[in-house]
Amino acid sequence: MKKILVIGAGISGLTAAYRLRLDGHDVTVVESGNAPGGWVQTDQDSHGGRIEKGPQLMAVEAGTPLHLLLCSLEIPLTTHRHLSRFIGIDGRLIRVPRNLLEFFKSPLLTLQGKLRIFLEPFLYHFVDKGREYTLQEAIEKRFGFEVANRLAPALVNGILAVPASEVSQESFPVFSKSNDRSLLWESIKRGSTILATPSRGMGQLTQVLASKCTIVFNTEITTLEYRQQHWHASGASYHEKFDSIFLATAAHKAATLLTSISPRLSSVLRNIEYTSLHLCHSTHSYNKTLDDSLGFLLHPNESEFLLGCFVSSSLEPLDKSKTLKLRTFIKANQSPAPNWQDIYSELLKWLPDLSPCAFSRIETAQLAIPKLQLGQSPEIITALKDLPMGLDWIGGARFGPGVKDIVEGIDSWMKRSDLEA
Ligand SMILES: Cc1cc2nc3c(=O)[nH]c(=O)nc-3n(C[C@H](O)[C@H](O)[C@H](O)COP(=O)(O)OP(=O)(O)OC[C@H]3O[C@@H](n4cnc5c(N)ncnc54)[C@H](O)[C@@H]3O)c2cc1C
Repeated sequence: MKKILVIGAGISGLTAAYRLRLDGHDVTVVESGNAPGGWVQTDQDSHGGRIEKGPQLMAVEAGTPLHLLLCSLEIPLTTHRHLSRFIGIDGRLIRVPRNLLEFFKSPLLTLQGKLRIFLEPFLYHFVDKGREYTLQEAIEKRFGFEVANRLAPALVNGILAVPASEVSQESFPVFSKSNDRSLLWESIKRGSTILATPSRGMGQLTQVLASKCTIVFNTEITTLEYRQQHWHASGASYHEKFDSIFLATAAHKAATLLTSISPRLSSVLRNIEYTSLHLCHSTHSYNKTLDDSLGFLLHPNESEFLLGCFVSSSLEPLDKSKTLKLRTFIKANQSPAPNWQDIYSELLKWLPDLSPCAFSRIETAQLAIPKLQLGQSPEIITALKDLPMGLDWIGGARFGPGVKDIVEGIDSWMKRSDLEA
């Protein structure tokens, strides 16, 4: 049994702490904020509805580490299989196909573009494994020009808040150059990916995990030091020694803590840019287009500042008054930030029948999403080798952008490390 400190009570830190505890270690989590979850937290609005701080839902596939974690925590899930999603392209909203029949009828791709997808199991062998591509190039090599240029840009922009041409394929583990499998064949074998939410919101996952961990809140770790065979972690009124310490924080926060321990890793982590975005919550009356829908994502060419819009009310128990609650994602590169009138006029281009809003609130998700550029992933892998025994960085950016990737990443990290029983 080892005495272990996990710095950060986000989904990365809590998952790692829970797993390490199951393996019999004495684990403490230290969190600078006053609540667990990091970006994965659910608040209530004044009408008893939910407001998510970060993710609204996650991809859950049977048998994956995330699925097993949810089962072991006995968290009931609400699945959103029936809800439509749209992509805004060529000035209109086009439904994302939900099955093969819809796929062949969809105007999103030409017949040639659709057929090209089915060549992936034969052509992926010819992708140059020695070369790191941008995410857009990697998607094009696998699925052809149309998927890469019409379909993927909106999806990537919606998840990473930057165009696929500006990030490395390593940003999405599934497109990583080390992934030497046919993605189409794998997804056919797996069946369709289910989008799901814990029944009380995403924060239920981190709350339940937190209830199984020992957490010290309102304490920011500012110094790490190795002396007399132990790691010493200190904050303003905190000092404790451990056998091992795991940093489950964003890269730039880890960089500060590692400055004197590993200058190379610290500088590599400091160079990882994080994108900020504005989130606008608004309430409207029933809207036919968005009824039974998760909302839409826009192709980057379609709007100066709108990334897309999520229908939060679709995830809540049936609302008899049919109130529509939107969460609109806005690029934060705009200064000053667009006001509600600008956002509403932009939304009207896509939803001409959207009613004026009864309530709106704009907040900024500061340095929210890592933007991994070409060359950074190999640099991270090399620089991580500098870390002395008993210290590691396991923040979300190391494993991928989503909750599913993080839980998978922590699972394979545990299997590789010498910590697992
Ligand atoms: C707006 C938004 C929407 C998203 N949507 C989705 C989605 O739909 N689906 C999906 O799967 N993913 C989504 N994500 C991504 C996902 O939420 C994040 O990848 C994930 O939550 C990151 O978790 P983490 O634990 O690595 O980091 P964080 O959540 O950043 O947690 C790190 C924690 O460490 C603490 N900390 C930092 N430094 C210190 C220190 N020195 N001492 C003590 N504590 C410290 C912080 O306070 C924080 O609580 C979204 C993210 C955002 C921002």
